[in-house]
Amino acid sequence: MQCPNGCLFPMEERKEEKVFHRNGGEPVIVSGLIIYVCSNCGQESMPLSSARIVENILTERLKPSGKFTAELYEVSSGCKF
Ligand SMILES: [Zn+2]
Repeated sequence: MQCPNGCLFPMEERKEEKVFHRNGGEPVIVSGLIIYVCSNCGQESMPLSSARIVENILTERLKPSGKFTAELYEVSSGCKF
């Protein structure tokens, strides 16, 4: 896969844990998702196969394999130091 920014370096395949939000804002975590990362500029790109998986998860066509709960901090919504 080629970097969308036009870098000449090949993109690196990685398995990552990603957080997505359903329409209602409910966060879901997808573990082991294959994404491509440009080793030059850091651009991430999701292959179609991964995008389909995420789509199936967000539309609840795939069942979760477990439940993950953690404290959530949203820096953008008013954390004051
Ligand atoms: Zn790049």
